[in-house]
Amino acid sequence: MPDDRAGVRHVAVVGGGVSGLVLARDLARAGVWVTVFEAAERCGGRIQAADIRGTSIDIGAEAFATRGGAVAALLGELGLADRVIRPAPLGSWLVAGSDGAAVPLPPAGAMGIPAAPLGRDARRALGLAGSVRAALEPLLPARVGSGSTTLAQLVRVRAGKAVLDRLVRPVTLGVSSAAPELIPLTSTRALTAEYARTGSLIRAAGRLRDSAAAAGGAVASLRGGMSELITALVADCVAAGVTIRTSAPIHSLTDVGDALESSESAAPAGTPGACGPTDIVLAVPELAARAILGHPVAEIVTTPVEVIALALAADHPAVRPLAEAPRGTGALVTAGGPNDVITAKAVTHITRKWPDADRNGPVGASSAGMEIVRLSYGRAGSSPETAALDDAAAQRLALRDASRLLGTELPDTAVLGFTRQSWGMPVHGDRPKPQPPAGVHLLGDWISGVGLATLIPAARELAQQLMRAPGSPSARFTGAPRPHHQISERH
Ligand SMILES: Cc1cc2nc3c(=O)[nH]c(=O)nc-3n(C[C@H](O)[C@H](O)[C@H](O)COP(=O)(O)OP(=O)(O)OC[C@H]3O[C@@H](n4cnc5c(N)ncnc54)[C@H](O)[C@@H]3O)c2cc1C
Repeated sequence: MPDDRAGVRHVAVVGGGVSGLVLARDLARAGVWVTVFEAAERCGGRIQAADIRGTSIDIGAEAFATRGGAVAALLGELGLADRVIRPAPLGSWLVAGSDGAAVPLPPAGAMGIPAAPLGRDARRALGLAGSVRAALEPLLPARVGSGSTTLAQLVRVRAGKAVLDRLVRPVTLGVSSAAPELIPLTSTRALTAEYARTGSLIRAAGRLRDSAAAAGGAVASLRGGMSELITALVADCVAAGVTIRTSAPIHSLTDVGDALESSESAAPAGTPGACGPTDIVLAVPELAARAILGHPVAEIVTTPVEVIALALAADHPAVRPLAEAPRGTGALVTAGGPNDVITAKAVTHITRKWPDADRNGPVGASSAGMEIVRLSYGRAGSSPETAALDDAAAQRLALRDASRLLGTELPDTAVLGFTRQSWGMPVHGDRPKPQPPAGVHLLGDWISGVGLATLIPAARELAQQLMRAPGSPSARFTGAPRPHHQISERH
């Protein structure tokens, strides 16, 4: 840490996920002294690479929406512009959980709402009556749906039940693990803004559609997986002077002060003994933020989800049909009910979706000879069905689901590799956000909405705000240090 940082504004960032790292990078590049505290052994949060039979895959976020250009702009700054890859233009599918019947997913504008409800794919997904009902939506007066507070209410009353149940529900469950009933309109800003402008959900969907290509065409990824973004962010942060402490869980605001003191005492010679005004940014999920603030809430704030990936032998006779990408880049499941034959909520056919991915990098070996599929489990309101299963049982369930989703019977003997990872996704709701004390700020997908296209601009905007704000008092961290630091490791 250079000497000239004495008295310089300081920001402590709790959480080294993409939000915290983007914020830390922007602040540090503007001359702010930044320390990041990350509970895990590595940064990245829900962006993480996993190894499956020597091949590197994304086991958390695997893509970003290109809308708005904010992610592309950041990637350009990080020197990753030429690492951006597009999914194969294969489209994706909807599969009925009740019987495995599959139809192509209509090119969607927003959250499954079809931009062209009378189009062939929309008719197949909705049935003729459902399509016609949706096509009438632009003719409805503005007062229809005006009292809606959730996405489900608005879609149902304006576009009809078929659009809600057969398109919007599988998309929101598959993408953000949230049932449309639990998505307040206040959290669907882009859609509601276009809806307000055009007076129609169908027209809004058309305007939001980034391209006329098949659904999924408006996303992109990185050649080496989304974890390349984290690697680049960490490197840039360090180059800009950010101190990143991993294996450093923070349990309270006082912990931050303690941990900073320990940072200062552990810092190399020449480091200033006292810093200037300090702000704290909690870039952690809601549960952790509330615990740190001492604002617990009785409601469930996180939906547990699980991702299971299977590597299948491409030359196994039962696997060969997958070379034709029978469900394009993947499929979303329309949940039927207790008698469903499919438990997963979505499948991604990774090796077909990202043909330009480079899995031969330092982490991964070639995926040649393998078809890799990734299944997701867990819908709002309950634990994922896989949570109680050991690896062998989870693999059996995933294989059975993959067989039904992809339309080909996949035996145990075709499996070369298996990996799984549990995650949490924010549960939207109308509970009030905790009010942090002065100088403490909240960041993350439970504040700004899920997805990198939303999170990255939110992190950058907060960085701008902090750069503009006058210094906040450092006095609140001068309490006596605790006898035992809760920092388990320093890096
Ligand atoms: C399976 C899955 C697939 C997804 N797919 C996509 C996708 O394709 N595209 C997309 O845009 N988005 C996707 N998302 C969403 C996206 O991953 C998240 O919105 C985003 O990564 C959240 O970033 P964050 O920094 O806000 O939070 P996180 O990534 O959760 O980071 C928070 C960090 O805080 C740390 N932390 C927690 N508690 C503490 C504590 N007490 N002290 C210190 N540190 C703490 C955590 O270890 C973590 O590293 C997906 C999410 C999941 C789970």
